[in-house]
Amino acid sequence: MKALVVIDYTNDFVADEGKLTCGKPGQQIEDRMANITEDFIKNGEFVVFAVDVHDKNDPYHPESNLFPPHNIRHTEGRDLYGRLKDVYENHIDKLNKQVMWMDKTRYSAFAGTDLEIKLRERKITEVHLAGVCTDICVLHTAVDAYNRGFSIVIHEDAVQSFDQAGHEWALSHFKNTLGATIVHQKDSLV
Ligand code: ZN
Repeated sequence: MKALVVIDYTNDFVADEGKLTCGKPGQQIEDRMANITEDFIKNGEFVVFAVDVHDKNDPYHPESNLFPPHNIRHTEGRDLYGRLKDVYENHIDKLNKQVMWMDKTRYSAFAGTDLEIKLRERKITEVHLAGVCTDICVLHTAVDAYNRGFSIVIHEDAVQSFDQAGHEWALSHFKNTLGATIVHQKDSLV
């Protein structure tokens, strides 16, 4: 069984006015993000929206010293970006069954969440990743998936970063070090 984990595709990480935005590269994958997610849901596969959350003025969070405040709880910055928001809302009836919203507070979607439990319950062995940033949250999630024994599939045309060198490096790391399969739309695996 396989699942799609959609990582951090929110206004703060993608929109022009986002607090920690990937900008245009992030916006260019909008259609692909929405289409992959829609395809997984239509095919009956499990889809997890893993979304960064921060509390305002949290002095203990390590990112407080690294990045400007972003994805603050109850702000529009934390809403899904563009068409992906519509896909999520169109399938809200499947929430907590086939579709799951998962708050995360660290780069990896596995850190401090019950993602692994939710995947194991559904006998999922293959984790597909899409979202941003390729070299931060997607990377850390992929490393944790690897360490937990999941097979990894990265949708190359549905990951992006504000740092193109980091994006390229992460793609090679997924393939050469984590043994991930890298797919594009033309491979039509979904
Ligand atoms: Zn964050």
